[in-house]
Amino acid sequence: MSKLYVTAETYHGIGSLEELKKIKGKKAIVVCGKGSVQRNGVLDRALSYLKEAGIESTVFAGVEDDPSVDTVMKGAEEFKAFQPDWVIGLGGCSCIDAAKMMWVFYEYPELTFAEAAVPFSIPALRDKARFVAIPTTSGTGTEMTGLAVITDREKGVKYPVVSYELTPDIAIIDGDLCKTMPKSVTAHTGLDALTHCIEAYVSNIDDNYADALAKGGMELIFDNLENVVMNPTDLVARQNMHDASAMGGFAFTNSWLGIAHSLAHQLGGMYHIPHGCANAIVLPNVIRFNSKVTNRYNKLAEACGLNTAEEFAQKIESLRFNIGVIDSVSAFGVDKATWEKNLDYIATNALADPCTGFNPRQPSKEELAQLFQACYDGAKIAI
Ligand SMILES: [Zn+2]
Repeated sequence: MSKLYVTAETYHGIGSLEELKKIKGKKAIVVCGKGSVQRNGVLDRALSYLKEAGIESTVFAGVEDDPSVDTVMKGAEEFKAFQPDWVIGLGGCSCIDAAKMMWVFYEYPELTFAEAAVPFSIPALRDKARFVAIPTTSGTGTEMTGLAVITDREKGVKYPVVSYELTPDIAIIDGDLCKTMPKSVTAHTGLDALTHCIEAYVSNIDDNYADALAKGGMELIFDNLENVVMNPTDLVARQNMHDASAMGGFAFTNSWLGIAHSLAHQLGGMYHIPHGCANAIVLPNVIRFNSKVTNRYNKLAEACGLNTAEEFAQKIESLRFNIGVIDSVSAFGVDKATWEKNLDYIATNALADPCTGFNPRQPSKEELAQLFQACYDGAKIAI
């Protein structure tokens, strides 16, 4: 027996932001970032739709990339003063993740961050408010997941807070909101979504529902990502990528991820390589490594008209090249001495990453170090 966790109401399609006109309630707080939704008019549109719904709203703006515990606590204070019955996360995943955690501390002001960060420990939410997620990037799928990534700057640690309580009540997946996303962000976030689909499909949790969405999401990404990087205002391609990102989120919140994410988390934490870029660097070699023990990649290769896991890995390398994403850690500018000094440390951390336990092949620390080294050099792994 398995249970599937889903966002209860998912509106998708160009113009679906207008669904805000129909929500029922009294007060909404919109949590957003530092400027793009203000500049491109998306925030004003959202506020006018809420007004049409008879909802009084306020805005908590200025959530930074990799949002901090401080920002979350500051937001929770504003929630307390305003007493909303709707929380609306509008923007990239940072805004939505920060809004999720502000919501937690609004509902439970006595809870500490350390307590909330213990996996699956957040008590039942929705006593004071419900949650709407409106993503403006197509990558993490946070609108479908029970996950929020928050950074403790004092300790220099990124916490993935995991609880199905954090799964939004409503997701609005409107590709029109993504058309001003910069090229490199489109490329990186799109490759992150691709990695979610592939890792969820091959993870050691088999789930027919998640697998179908993972495979379908992957096909949408192969069919649309290159086009949307070249033609950012192609709304059909934008919507397809936005749908694929949500499908990947659905798949991995139920089937989890694998060592591409374990490695990428370290490359992000240590060298600040953007998350999707780090995934794209490691994914082909992870496929080569894992395909020694699973034939699941052959099913994905078949869906792309290919025959082998190696051909499938090469298809990802071609896509990565075509959309202008680097192929190695050294190409990011990490010097050799620094790399060698930290290699054992990041391999140790990658082994301990929760995603490693869901990978189809259980690696040793030495094997993870070999994978890291091949990805540093831009070489093919042979183990
Ligand atoms: Zn990811």
